[in-house]
Amino acid sequence: MEALLEDIVRDCAKYKALGKPADYIPELAKGDVNDLGIFVVSSDGQSYKAGDWRKPFTIQSIVKPILLLQCLMDNGIDFVRSHIGVEATGKPFDAINVTEGVLSAQHLNPMVNMGAIFMSTLIKGADHEEKFSRLLSLTRLLAGNPDIGVDEKVYLSEKRTGNRNRALAFMLKTYGMIEGEVEDVLDCYFKACSIRVDCKDLANIAYVFANRGRKPITDERLFPAEYAHYVNAVLVTCGMYDGSGDFAVRVGVPAKSGVGGGIMAVAPTRMGVGIFSPGLDEKGNSVAGIKALEELSQRMYLSIF
Ligand code: GLN
Repeated sequence: MEALLEDIVRDCAKYKALGKPADYIPELAKGDVNDLGIFVVSSDGQSYKAGDWRKPFTIQSIVKPILLLQCLMDNGIDFVRSHIGVEATGKPFDAINVTEGVLSAQHLNPMVNMGAIFMSTLIKGADHEEKFSRLLSLTRLLAGNPDIGVDEKVYLSEKRTGNRNRALAFMLKTYGMIEGEVEDVLDCYFKACSIRVDCKDLANIAYVFANRGRKPITDERLFPAEYAHYVNAVLVTCGMYDGSGDFAVRVGVPAKSGVGGGIMAVAPTRMGVGIFSPGLDEKGNSVAGIKALEELSQRMYLSIF
């Protein structure tokens, strides 16, 4: 398996420079397109890795499935289902999805920014700081890594320049979906996106979703299986934004990308995969990362379809 991952990293090297690091968050523009790493946690209890899997990066939108899980754990399925839709928007992740002057829960899904900013208000906590710290604790628990923290530079960079997200949050406020201070809600969201992880962390988190809520090796249950079904289903339809259909055809597993260059892929009952390569396509998904997953899926028959 490790030889296979080495092959994949070598084969996909030619795709690395076809993408471009995100530059709308200035700190992310420093990403090195030459990086490509992969880590696999497999149901046989083993883990395998290749390339730059040790390099840290910010989780960005890959925090959205964790945010959704926290919402489910705090409020249950019925509440979450009635407050935020599950249909693909077919639009970019930062689209202002208001049609004919109407914004309702069904215009949002948990994987686009507007949905994630809204979800930041639904998780429990006395204030935005407590909400964030609970989300960080859940991230550490899923990854089995108590050292996970926030990349302050990326956080401040995004807080300074994140006016598109500010516009989305004010839109939610306009339509009565945010009660508190917009800037507080955004602070929780920006910090959440700036959580620093590596491929191993993502693979461990993905494995828990693949194993329907149970940790690798010990099989200890962290959350009910139906929450994993919910999150995985949303990942299939919305996880790669308006590239989700293409990804389903090429790779065929629930997955989530982030503009830091990470992808977390969930192969139910089989494995959790963490990938990192900062060169992004025009939809904000890692070019070499998707290629690597495509090859892994073909070689290991991972597609669920
Ligand atoms: N922090 C990023 C943003 O809000 C997350 C987007 C992403 O990873 N696609 O713009």
